[in-house]
Amino acid sequence: MDFALTGEQEAFRAEIREFLSSEVLAEERVEDGWISGYSREFSQKLGQQGWIGLTWPKKYGGQEKSYLDRLILTEELLRAGAPVAAHWLGDRQVGPALLAYGSEEQKQKILPQVCKGEVVFCLGMSEPGSGSDLASLQTRANEEGDHYTLNGQKIWTSFAHVADYAYLVARTDPDAPKHRGISEFLVAMDTPGIDVRPLIDATGEHHFNEVFFDNVEVPKNRLIGEKNRGWYQIASQLDYERSGIERLLSNYPLFQDTVRYAKERGLTKDPLVRDTLSQLQIELDLGRSMVYKVAWYLTQKIVPNYEAAMAKCFCTEVEQRIAKAVSELLGDYAVLLPGSPHARLAGRAAREYLYAPAYTIQGGTSNILRNIIAIRGLGLQPG
Ligand SMILES: Cc1cc2nc3c(=O)[nH]c(=O)nc-3n(C[C@H](O)[C@H](O)[C@H](O)COP(=O)(O)OP(=O)(O)OC[C@H]3O[C@@H](n4cnc5c(N)ncnc54)[C@H](O)[C@@H]3O)c2cc1C
Repeated sequence: MDFALTGEQEAFRAEIREFLSSEVLAEERVEDGWISGYSREFSQKLGQQGWIGLTWPKKYGGQEKSYLDRLILTEELLRAGAPVAAHWLGDRQVGPALLAYGSEEQKQKILPQVCKGEVVFCLGMSEPGSGSDLASLQTRANEEGDHYTLNGQKIWTSFAHVADYAYLVARTDPDAPKHRGISEFLVAMDTPGIDVRPLIDATGEHHFNEVFFDNVEVPKNRLIGEKNRGWYQIASQLDYERSGIERLLSNYPLFQDTVRYAKERGLTKDPLVRDTLSQLQIELDLGRSMVYKVAWYLTQKIVPNYEAAMAKCFCTEVEQRIAKAVSELLGDYAVLLPGSPHARLAGRAAREYLYAPAYTIQGGTSNILRNIIAIRGLGLQPG
């Protein structure tokens, strides 16, 4: 078996690196660039390169490249600490979901805009009483004449305050068993009756929100796929959401800068420092091979459901170990006054320490993923 990338793929990687070397300056690198690095301008530049919707059909603005090409692209963007949040959800999961289940009208209208980096999405899934058990959601969409009327509340909705559309799940048949009465919608965020309220996370940043829907009218042509089949459509979407390399590289820029700093300051004379950083590098390489395996499955049209769960579970725990180790290593410097050459690095480590618990919650908790691995991977049925 040959694990090497092709010459064309290596050339693509080099082209991306060259582009990023002038577009993302060292002092502007960010952690969690796919969550906190929001820049419509940067997304539009990527759109001009043809680097959004890379795997999609050309007739919708895509490039018809492979999932491995897309993985190379996302790997380079995240390693560089690029601000990719504005197009991330559209590129990663809303676009693929529309390609799979959307109407021709929806594909023609929305996908070319996503490819140009001109449209921002949020995901309206979680509710105050429904997170892991998403199928218990209570937001209602009642069919009335030429539209659905939406009432309810979503929570933890990243980007709702800047999004053009919500990709939203709601209950369309309250009498059906809970998995069978759910549908998916594309809701324009400027529709009357939507109220977005900020939630500030532990780092002091605002990226997620509560969203309230009060008699919001959604035209019928904004239903995605089949009415009441939404649950089965979401399942494949979650595999895209869980299996990407963003679940491994969220804080890679900080890891890389810390290794550089440790070498420059001679900290690597300490065997414990060497051991810690080497162990993390081993785990990064292991996680990377799991993510590449999932991308390879996608190229073969194999659904990677327990493999996606394994990758997310392992990789996000590596990210947490990185956050902890780096904070400990830079701990003495975290109290440095602003203006010190090391203050920014220490500040990034402190922020990471506060943010890292989210890695094993967002996109499905590790407990839930272990259930999936147990049931679908190992065939261990609950008693
Ligand atoms: C940074 C961040 C961004 C987010 N962005 C979005 C977004 O944009 N859109 C969106 O819809 N949601 C978003 N979420 C919400 C996220 O999807 C949920 O937080 C997650 O699914 C868990 O749901 P919950 O918070 O309701 O916890 P719960 O489901 O109440 O779980 C609480 C605890 O119980 C455990 N647990 C629950 N059920 C089981 C079980 N059956 N077996 C074993 N253990 C179990 C869980 O693992 C967890 O530890 C975001 C969350 C975070 C942290």
